[in-house]
Amino acid sequence: MKVVKFGGSSLASATQLEKVLQIVKEDPERRFVVVSAPGKRNEQDTKVTDALIRYYRDYVEENDVTSHQEWIIERYSDMVKELNLKPSIIEKISKSILKLATLPIEDNDFLYDAFLAAGENNNAKLIAAYFNQNGIAARYVHPKEAGMIVSSEPGNAQILPGSYDKIEELANAQEVLVIPGFFGVTQDGQICTFSRGGSDITGSIIAAGVKADLYENFTDVDGIFAAHPGIIAHPHSIPELTYREMRELAYAGFSVLHDEALIPAYRGKIPLVIKNTNNPSHPGTRIVLQHTTQALPVVGIAADSHFTSINMSKYLMNREVGFGRKVLQILEDLNIRWEHMPTGIDDLSLILRDRELTPIKEEEILRQLRQKLEVDHAEIEHGLSIIMIVGENMKSHVGLTATATKALSDHQINIQMISQGSSEVSIMIVINSEQEKAAIKALYQAFFSEVH
Ligand code: ASP
Repeated sequence: MKVVKFGGSSLASATQLEKVLQIVKEDPERRFVVVSAPGKRNEQDTKVTDALIRYYRDYVEENDVTSHQEWIIERYSDMVKELNLKPSIIEKISKSILKLATLPIEDNDFLYDAFLAAGENNNAKLIAAYFNQNGIAARYVHPKEAGMIVSSEPGNAQILPGSYDKIEELANAQEVLVIPGFFGVTQDGQICTFSRGGSDITGSIIAAGVKADLYENFTDVDGIFAAHPGIIAHPHSIPELTYREMRELAYAGFSVLHDEALIPAYRGKIPLVIKNTNNPSHPGTRIVLQHTTQALPVVGIAADSHFTSINMSKYLMNREVGFGRKVLQILEDLNIRWEHMPTGIDDLSLILRDRELTPIKEEEILRQLRQKLEVDHAEIEHGLSIIMIVGENMKSHVGLTATATKALSDHQINIQMISQGSSEVSIMIVINSEQEKAAIKALYQAFFSEVH
């Protein structure tokens, strides 16, 4: 049995819902359907979740909220009309949207979450009604009934491990179950959402809970591309990725799937596939525990900008006991997270995301490095990008770093730092952000020219 999750763009209009109906109909193993709120119908459109945020803001500021209510209700009623659904469904939806503006504002930590969750909750009701009217016996299931019990962290809920036993019982259902994504309920019965984009997490939890054979995540692209399509024209979609490869690519900006969505499926050993609602016959990208086919040594190349490097050197640094700890202590005291730490004999760099620093913190770090640690040289360098060349099969291949460095040197791209963890699942290269696009193009050509 399969759990299918549809993202907002797959559920934005009646035309999209017709595709969803066909996808669910054509495979009787698709027994659990997790849905997002309606997304954008075109570039200029607004996602229902974003409209709910505006509605919430005006409500708490005690402004007039009628235009928000009308706009949101109309989004659903357009679909209800186009799909010829019974009017009773839109009555239900509209009541639920209006009711939000009666919830208590004072001392209500979960008010924002209640507004946000209404997007998926009402969509699930609409979709269950649509399925029932079109030949699929379906039932809407509220996350509370499903057993999605989460921690009391508004906007950042975490599933409680005890939930899985209850979720498993869903496997006995006779109908197709339509479950709203993005939120669960706390032990006190409060609606509490995951972080933004969190419907992917719900799908993964349900898949792990019911011990599905497959978790299908339907979006609007043919899977995960080997490089960013904004940089490489028509990059190929990766047929198969391991969870570790996916994690490395996601780290450097590949964001097709919510980061936290990998964990439940991974722990439950459930394979995952990313597919395209608009092109469902495309096999998409499978995310598996171990490669089943002989994948290329490199599966994807990702890049992310906005990194800073704190560089320092001190003669005989390698002989000084505790030097590294003292450097990290400076960062810890300033509540700064770091990402990478390439070292030489007498020098050390710390690479971190720009957002961790402020001019005052930078000055303080340099001061402490010079005064307390007595480094010979310390500087802070901005404007860096990280390139990740990812592939588990790199382990068994010789010369891949040489291929990468040659491709970059042929294009006059200076490598500031390079490192490869002992797991050899990725090679990380730090370069100047101005050369990021050129670097991706050069590397894509070097590693994938044969794929095309
Ligand atoms: N609708 C929510 C959001 O826009 C969650 C989701 O679509 O996954 O963040």
